[in-house]
Amino acid sequence: MKILSVNAGSSSLKFQLYEMPEERVLISGNFERIGVGNSFYTIKLNGEKIRKELELDNHEQAFKALVNELKENNVVESLDEIKGIGHRIVQGGDYFDKTVVIDDEVLSKIDELSKLAPLHNPAAVTGIKAAIDVFPSALQTAVFDTAFHQTMPKENYLYALPMKWYTDYKVRRYGAHGTSHKYISNRMNEILGRTDTKLITCHIGNGASISAVVNGKCVNTSMGLTPNAGLIMGTRCGDIDASIIPYIMEKTNMTPKEIDNVINKESGLLAISMRSSDSRDVEAGINEGDENCILAQRMYVRRIVDYIAKYYVEMEGCDAIIFTAGVGENSITTRKAIIEKLGILGVKLDEEANNLRGEEKLISAKDSKIACYVIPTDEELMIARDTLALVNE
Ligand code: ADP
Repeated sequence: MKILSVNAGSSSLKFQLYEMPEERVLISGNFERIGVGNSFYTIKLNGEKIRKELELDNHEQAFKALVNELKENNVVESLDEIKGIGHRIVQGGDYFDKTVVIDDEVLSKIDELSKLAPLHNPAAVTGIKAAIDVFPSALQTAVFDTAFHQTMPKENYLYALPMKWYTDYKVRRYGAHGTSHKYISNRMNEILGRTDTKLITCHIGNGASISAVVNGKCVNTSMGLTPNAGLIMGTRCGDIDASIIPYIMEKTNMTPKEIDNVINKESGLLAISMRSSDSRDVEAGINEGDENCILAQRMYVRRIVDYIAKYYVEMEGCDAIIFTAGVGENSITTRKAIIEKLGILGVKLDEEANNLRGEEKLISAKDSKIACYVIPTDEELMIARDTLALVNE
């Protein structure tokens, strides 16, 4: 059976088509610059990457171009072979705690939740509507980035703010990257051969978050109402004193939109390194002795270590710390710096084992009190698995 995993942005559409339950990727790709001119797409098929220019006014046209590619390349004979389409949705609020089949009610709820994710949910709605038009016989599902975090206890998701802000405006911690945290914690439990585990999952990419997962359920996570909480990221500041915002707005006459742009797009590694948001560039700077890059990396690592320590105490122990996403999977030096700072907890790195990128592996020493692993994440596969489960119901 074929299942399509879809991630619609406002001007992009990423996809991956799987043969399930074998979990084999048949074709994957990305449509870019949809509706903004000069659109093009790239597809990966049989180990080859192809790029084509094609004017695409909207997501429906992108799906139609995908159908043409599927047919021309004999990936499918008939569209009916695609039994399910899973859509990645950034914000599910406190309404969705699992993947669901999309009907009119679900669609309008996702639309309503745009209040909490104005940049992302409207794009997802557009993508879903286009998919329904082009693939009317497939079961459409919504897979939420926030769903995995819905098991957090109230003491962890509530802010110490007027209760009315929570009841009337839904201000609370929702978290993000849930599909990734779920994927790597499931995989970790598979490797450990049990489910009664305490895990700290570190999704460290351009966006970054850490979760505490007990017996497969999330109990805490570092992102908040929005993704700009917790860790220092490529361009986001993460946790700061909230009063900085009104103070700077008053000093500079910035509008809410302008200051939001600064804390999301001009802060983090980029602001401190004064060089780049990309940890590869920061590492290069460190090697050149650039003081700003050295400081940026210290702050970045410090924040990650603080969260790991916090969750270790909260869970009263930890069986494994897992690193994933761009930095977590690839930055040997960042992993080393983090693990070395956890020495007080009895965590020990195996330097040789840590010398790897993008592979699943145990990287802690045999006598480390907490096992440390690299597990490459696969959000698209998680979406396909959840969708398959609903198709089979
Ligand atoms: P996103 O949050 O956009 O999904 P990714 O998880 O793809 O981000 O992570 C992208 C980031 O991963 C890059 O900005 C870079 O900082 C980091 N990265 C990727 N490859 C390497 C590498 N070889 N060494 C260090 N960092 C890397």
